[in-house]
Amino acid sequence: MAQPSVKALGEVGLETGDKIEMEVLELQLRIAKRLDKPAIIHTPRKNKAVITAKVLKLLDRVGIDPSLTVVDHVTSEIADDVRRSGRWMGLTIQPAKLTVEEAVKIAMKYDGSMVMANTDTSTEPSWPQGVYDLEQSLNDIGAKEVARMVVYQNARSFYRL
Ligand SMILES: [Zn+2]
Repeated sequence: MAQPSVKALGEVGLETGDKIEMEVLELQLRIAKRLDKPAIIHTPRKNKAVITAKVLKLLDRVGIDPSLTVVDHVTSEIADDVRRSGRWMGLTIQPAKLTVEEAVKIAMKYDGSMVMANTDTSTEPSWPQGVYDLEQSLNDIGAKEVARMVVYQNARSFYRL
């Protein structure tokens, strides 16, 4: 992971937020911090607000730079909490996670600032063209700069590309 070709840690994160998950995540975050690598942090579908609060608290306790962490699978339920933390938001366009319409609302609310889109192809039904669809939807409402940031430029900045 110390090699320059390794761009980030993750995604890592919490699913249930139990003791062992918390311990493992803390160790993973300490590695990312020591190596000065960005970290992608998963949040679950279930108990999202409660588990995200645990994640944010742990990130603060570890003292990992907010600009080096993206809290993934953000919904409108947790978006303000993530924004207040100063950390990046990952918007996952996927049927069971976030629709394009919901992603447009969140992206526009924050003018695309510190927001990144992904599709997170997983074991659940996925939508591989979700990022493209989000870009098109943002362009359709005249938000071309927000689109550019959310589907391209912000990821380049975060991953230092
Ligand atoms: Zn995830």
